[in-house]
Amino acid sequence: MVRRGGSQSEGGPRGRRIRVALACALCGSRNYRTTRLHTESEILNLSKFCKHCNRHTRHIEGK
Ligand SMILES: [Zn+2]
Repeated sequence: MVRRGGSQSEGGPRGRRIRVALACALCGSRNYRTTRLHTESEILNLSKFCKHCNRHTRHIEGK
Protein backbone atom coordinates (compact mmCIF):
# COMPACT_ATOMS: atom_id res chain seq x y z
CA MET A 1 0.00 0.00 0.00
CA VAL A 2 2.81 2.40 0.77
CA ARG A 3 4.40 3.87 -2.27
CA ARG A 4 7.83 5.34 -2.17
CA GLY A 5 8.93 8.06 -4.50
CA GLY A 6 5.47 8.83 -5.77
CA SER A 7 4.95 12.09 -7.53
CA GLN A 8 1.51 12.58 -6.09
CA SER A 9 1.37 14.99 -3.25
CA GLU A 10 -1.54 14.92 -0.91
CA GLY A 11 -2.55 18.07 0.78
CA GLY A 12 -1.47 20.73 -1.61
CA PRO A 13 -1.08 24.34 -0.63
CA ARG A 14 -4.48 25.30 -1.99
CA GLY A 15 -6.54 23.41 0.50
CA ARG A 16 -6.66 19.96 1.83
CA ARG A 17 -8.89 17.33 0.45
CA ILE A 18 -10.23 14.68 2.69
CA ARG A 19 -11.54 11.33 1.67
CA VAL A 20 -15.04 10.53 2.70
CA ALA A 21 -17.36 7.63 2.21
CA LEU A 22 -20.94 8.09 1.17
CA ALA A 23 -23.19 5.78 3.09
CA CYS A 24 -26.77 4.91 2.33
CA ALA A 25 -29.03 6.55 4.85
CA LEU A 26 -31.35 3.57 4.88
CA CYS A 27 -29.10 0.53 5.13
CA GLY A 28 -25.80 2.16 5.98
CA SER A 29 -23.84 0.59 3.15
CA ARG A 30 -20.86 2.62 2.06
CA ASN A 31 -21.41 2.51 -1.64
CA TYR A 32 -19.35 5.44 -2.82
CA ARG A 33 -16.15 7.16 -1.99
CA THR A 34 -15.22 10.66 -2.87
CA THR A 35 -13.10 13.57 -1.81
CA ARG A 36 -14.03 17.03 -0.79
CA LEU A 37 -12.30 20.12 0.39
CA HIS A 38 -11.61 20.15 4.05
CA THR A 39 -12.76 23.73 4.28
CA GLU A 40 -16.29 22.85 3.28
CA SER A 41 -18.13 22.36 6.49
CA GLU A 42 -21.31 21.15 4.92
CA ILE A 43 -21.86 17.44 5.09
CA LEU A 44 -22.33 15.85 1.72
CA ASN A 45 -25.81 14.66 1.05
CA LEU A 46 -26.45 13.15 -2.34
CA SER A 47 -29.00 10.99 -4.02
CA LYS A 48 -27.28 7.85 -5.25
CA PHE A 49 -28.26 4.40 -6.28
CA CYS A 50 -27.93 1.82 -3.56
CA LYS A 51 -27.65 -1.72 -4.82
CA HIS A 52 -28.70 -3.07 -1.46
CA CYS A 53 -31.89 -1.05 -1.36
CA ASN A 54 -32.21 -1.41 -5.14
CA ARG A 55 -33.22 2.19 -5.56
CA HIS A 56 -31.97 5.71 -5.24
CA THR A 57 -31.55 6.73 -1.66
CA ARG A 58 -29.97 9.55 0.20
CA HIS A 59 -26.29 9.03 0.78
CA ILE A 60 -24.58 10.97 3.48
CA GLU A 61 -20.99 11.48 4.29
CA GLY A 62 -19.32 9.21 6.78
CA LYS A 63 -15.78 8.53 7.85
ZN1 LIG B 1 -29.18 1.19 0.99
